[in-house]
This record gives sequence, C-alpha cells and structure tokens, in this order.
Amino acid sequence: MKKGEKMSDELKLKLSLAKKGKVFTDEHRANLSKAHIGKKPTNLDMLRTYRKGRPLTEEHKRKIGLAHKGKTISPEAKIKIGLAGLGRVPWNKGNGEYMKGSKNHTWIPDRDKLKQKYNRQIGPLHTQWVKACKDRDGGKCKLGSKECSGRLEVHHIYRFSEHPELRYELTNGITLCHFHHPRKKAQEDELRELFIKLIS
Ligand SMILES: [Zn+2]
Repeated sequence: MKKGEKMSDELKLKLSLAKKGKVFTDEHRANLSKAHIGKKPTNLDMLRTYRKGRPLTEEHKRKIGLAHKGKTISPEAKIKIGLAGLGRVPWNKGNGEYMKGSKNHTWIPDRDKLKQKYNRQIGPLHTQWVKACKDRDGGKCKLGSKECSGRLEVHHIYRFSEHPELRYELTNGITLCHFHHPRKKAQEDELRELFIKLIS
C-alpha cells in the first residue's frame, strides 16, 4: 500500500479480524503511552476525547474563574440567549424514564390529597386571568414569529410559585404560543424584561 492510498473495505476487515481478541502486552502498552507523552491534541474532537472524564485541576479552575471575572452580560445579550433557547428540546428529555412515577424515590402512593393542595393553577380566578390576558394580547403569541406553533398559553412573568400576590395580575401575564413558552427557569429570567416591555 502506498502512502495516502485509501484502504479497501476488504483490507480493513482483514486487519480488524486479525486484531480481534488480541491483548496488548504490558510492554507494548507502556511504549504506546510513552509515545503519546507531550503530544498535543490537533483538533477539537481529539481534545474532547483527551479531556473526557478528567477533572480540572484546582489551578485550571482558578484560571477559568479569573478569565471570566468582571464579565457581565448586557441586557440585550441576555434576551438573545433566552430567545435562542426557546422551543428547544432539553437534552435530557425522555432520559429520565427510569426514575419516573413509582420508580422515583420521592414517589408518594396516595397523591390525590397532595394534588389538591398544591395544584392551584385551576379555578375560576385562574380561568378569568388567562382569558383577560389573552384578550389584551389579541389572542396571539406576543413573540409572534414564523416559528410560532402549538396552543396558546399564558405565561406568568413573575413565577406563580414565588409571587403568589401576582398570580392573577393582568400585568404579570403574557400570551405565548407553546413554542415560545419558556421551559427553563434561566430562560424565564433572561426574558422577563422583554416580556414586561412587550405587554406595556
Ligand atoms: Zn410564538
């Protein structure tokens, strides 16, 4: 085989079969590791493989911290970040099946009573509030873009759980489509200012 020539599939298969089940001798291993000493990863993928699972040293952590010191995000950048994340499926969606429901350690068998106590996003007041917000916003998503999709929802600008006093305030609700409804707390924080502006 000449240098630069591509391996045929047949040859690849032969090579892989020949290597199958072979274990490197300790000496070979030591040699391999010696050969890699001081070598730097040449591309990002390689770098990721090199770093995988290796904890950062304290020194490295400190340097990263220093590099970011004093950096603040402008309000515009914040909004941009928040908008960019909307409609994205979280990376861990569906990964948690194995700890859902009765498989979770926090599972309470007799949950009906709890539900009544905590799920108060129902009732005539809430229905009225939702309707009033939708009417004010013209029955449309306030972020209106070509990406709009899904049912209309009214979002609490200040969280339902943290601001009980604002639960049914017209000024604390904004009509959004399902796509544009923030799914993460961070997004809610990033977009709060924008939402307030949009409804005022
Ligand atoms: Zn929308």
